[in-house]
Amino acid sequence: MTKLKNLDIILAHGPELSAGGLDYYQLGLWAASLPRTRVLAVNPGLPREELLRRLKAFLYLGEEHRVLLAALDPLRRARLLIQLLLQEIGIHPEFLLTLDLQEALSYPDAKACSLKAHHLIGVAASMLTRAEPVGVQELPVSPRVLVWGDSYAALKAAVSLAHLGHPVLWAYPGPTPAPLLPGAPVTEPPEPPVASLLTAADASPLISKVPKARFLELEGQVGHFLVKLEISGEIRQELVGGMILAPELHLTPNPKPLADHFRIFSLSELERRLKEQEKIEGLFPPRDGLLQAAFIGGDSHPLSLKRTLKAISRLQTQDPWQVALFLRDAKVGAPGLEAALEAALAQGLILFKVSEPPKISLTDDLPQVSFFDPVMLSREVLACDLVVLDEVYRPDPDNHRLAHLLGLFSGPAGFLQKDNVRLLPVVTNRQGIYVAGPGRAVMDLDQALAEADTAVSMCHELLGQGLAFAPKGRAVVDRGRCTLCLTCYRLCPHRAISWDNRAVIHELACQGCGTCAAHCPNEAIQIRNFTDDQVVAAMATLDPRLTPKIFAFLCQNSAWEAYQAAIKEEGLILPLGFIPLRLPCAGKLDIDYLLRGFTYGAQGILVMGCPLDNCRSDQGNCHALWRVERAQGLLAEVGIDPRRLLYRPVAANAPRDFQDAVMSLLEILSQGQAA
Ligand code: SF4
Ligand code: SF4
Repeated sequence: MTKLKNLDIILAHGPELSAGGLDYYQLGLWAASLPRTRVLAVNPGLPREELLRRLKAFLYLGEEHRVLLAALDPLRRARLLIQLLLQEIGIHPEFLLTLDLQEALSYPDAKACSLKAHHLIGVAASMLTRAEPVGVQELPVSPRVLVWGDSYAALKAAVSLAHLGHPVLWAYPGPTPAPLLPGAPVTEPPEPPVASLLTAADASPLISKVPKARFLELEGQVGHFLVKLEISGEIRQELVGGMILAPELHLTPNPKPLADHFRIFSLSELERRLKEQEKIEGLFPPRDGLLQAAFIGGDSHPLSLKRTLKAISRLQTQDPWQVALFLRDAKVGAPGLEAALEAALAQGLILFKVSEPPKISLTDDLPQVSFFDPVMLSREVLACDLVVLDEVYRPDPDNHRLAHLLGLFSGPAGFLQKDNVRLLPVVTNRQGIYVAGPGRAVMDLDQALAEADTAVSMCHELLGQGLAFAPKGRAVVDRGRCTLCLTCYRLCPHRAISWDNRAVIHELACQGCGTCAAHCPNEAIQIRNFTDDQVVAAMATLDPRLTPKIFAFLCQNSAWEAYQAAIKEEGLILPLGFIPLRLPCAGKLDIDYLLRGFTYGAQGILVMGCPLDNCRSDQGNCHALWRVERAQGLLAEVGIDPRRLLYRPVAANAPRDFQDAVMSLLEILSQGQAA
């Protein structure tokens, strides 16, 4: 049980001591009756010096104060007060809690208004008097960074890191770097600024190149990753503080070519031939003075179509080629692509938009392309001198293995970043491991280089020049309670837990989501300032006069924002007994909170987390939903209508969805009362 601390409440009011239904004088009298509490009512519009004088008189300098600042729209109206408290009085930022009383003002009668204000202050006070500061610590880390892959993004990252003074281990699987220019022929050299990157990497004394490398193992945590690599058959261990992953894309012919037929080329092969010889019709004896080429596909990605159209354009300059292009879906989203397609059409390109991929067969050693022509509504066959197959940009096939070794959640297509908007652009679920450019998606060169820069600046900010700043004591293991069951180790989405003879949380890697705390069977982990003690104390403040009683457990990354916006922007009037409780992530929800809520007299409980695939800690929303479902089963067993416990996902910018969820629960509760 946390020892309660003293609390100083500042009620910031306007020139009058009452506003709407709120009487600050009465509110102050009530607040002063709370245990271990003192109250100052002050007009934040007073001159700065006068405000400071009153604050100094109220808050004795040198003492540790916990200050609850309650006002209407405090971040705007009491901005000067906040500034003085933090900068002049020196209040620890974690001990200054601002409370917006706007929600209380939304009730039409003065009694409801003051009851709600009492309750909002009561909940905030119960949290703040139990708050413990999360300190900041400086941790020594290795400034050395592993850059993995030989894409231009990897090359840019290596050079930029070295430029910032980081020693770089640049490892890639091939004997020499073989970066691709996305959307360009494989034979096209890069433009000068990019071309000079290779020279810069060669010249930098801080970059150690490691060709023919294979990633074998990873131990340790951000700041001290121990990487085991196999290099030309030898095993090497390297210490690095962080990593930037940018493995190059692979080009895969689509569909697979008929076994090496001399008239069926992949796009790369055609590009090489076009580079080697000015004209390629000499390869094929013309039929009736005309050569027919068919390009199949090109629609896997706008960058593939860009390459295809470049090759078509080269071929069209060579009489007597007639070119047909078969597309299922013309993705002309890339800049200049629509114009390139129109130019090719103007040069005589015949475009077939087909619903099924054409079939390729051989007759008398000549490729035949058969397809259903949606214009003629008939199956057609085109005899071709040359068939060119699209090449799909695919992620490095080794990515799955790499993601597994590194403990990363890989994306659905085999990239190294999960499809989750919270991770964009370069973050992974592991602190200190970033993914850029072709490591996370197919993208053009400009975007890949920009992402490399972003990853470099995040890495630099994290590792500095060998010192990292980390929270101190945010997630705490009670070693006396821990039985080393390793549930937390298995479930931590950020891989921040290891163990000696008890679970150990790595403070630089931990994101404070609370998933571990909610799952620990021995309640051995607490998330500071979201402790069980604080949550239960806040629930216990429920005033029996406030009805209907509803506890709402809201993820601070989404639902909490939506709740605030619903009140401020949508003018939502919540039921008087609606008690919002903030969680660091929905994954922190403990089933005990839900069951206890009903024993405290809640009529309904609402749990809200981020939408699917939008959780910052990967599956916090799913964990919350599973717990709600389990609790619903238990409620049904003891005869409580399980519908009184409702789970809803909500995005931070969707206050109306928040409102809908509240209305749905109220509807269920009213049905229950009617029954
Ligand atoms: S889940 Fe709890 S008891 Fe199990 S290892 Fe982690 S801290 Fe220890
Ligand atoms: S709070 Fe979240 S990130 Fe930190 S150790 Fe627990 S599960 Fe991992």
